[in-house]
Amino acid sequence: MSLVSLKCPNCNGDIQMDDSKENGFCMYCGSSFLVKDEVQKSHSEHSGTINLNRKEEAENFAILGEQKYSEKTSFTEADVKYIMENYVEKSLVLDMTNKRALDLKTRLDKLMVIIKQKQAAIIKKSNNKVTNMKVVFFLIFLIPLILVVACNMYFFH
Ligand SMILES: [Zn+2]
Repeated sequence: MSLVSLKCPNCNGDIQMDDSKENGFCMYCGSSFLVKDEVQKSHSEHSGTINLNRKEEAENFAILGEQKYSEKTSFTEADVKYIMENYVEKSLVLDMTNKRALDLKTRLDKLMVIIKQKQAAIIKKSNNKVTNMKVVFFLIFLIPLILVVACNMYFFH
């Protein structure tokens, strides 16, 4: 047996009950009730409160994430990851249906795709630059070489 804190279904008074007993009596109004039913009710109310708290917390994370998002005008990959990990994911862990967090996630995902595309374009550009440099160096060495060969052929034949 253990003592449980309950509320009287009739007068809402705070009562303590031995949970191994089937019937309980309220010491304030004298009404009787089934202990098992009231224990169950109090459990579901309690978890309802927890769920509400989690939803609120999830909403707070999402709002903070939106603020961080709107503070910036340009984003790096690290910025996007930071908001994603510290706000969006934390919000969705608490409440995976949070609309604000889901919206923000969609926007951040899109942003990430654009950032990756830009990065790929920059890499391509720098690769082109390297190729161009190779051609320039090749010509710088090749032209004197041709000149030397041509001079040799002219003077020693
Ligand atoms: Zn009562």
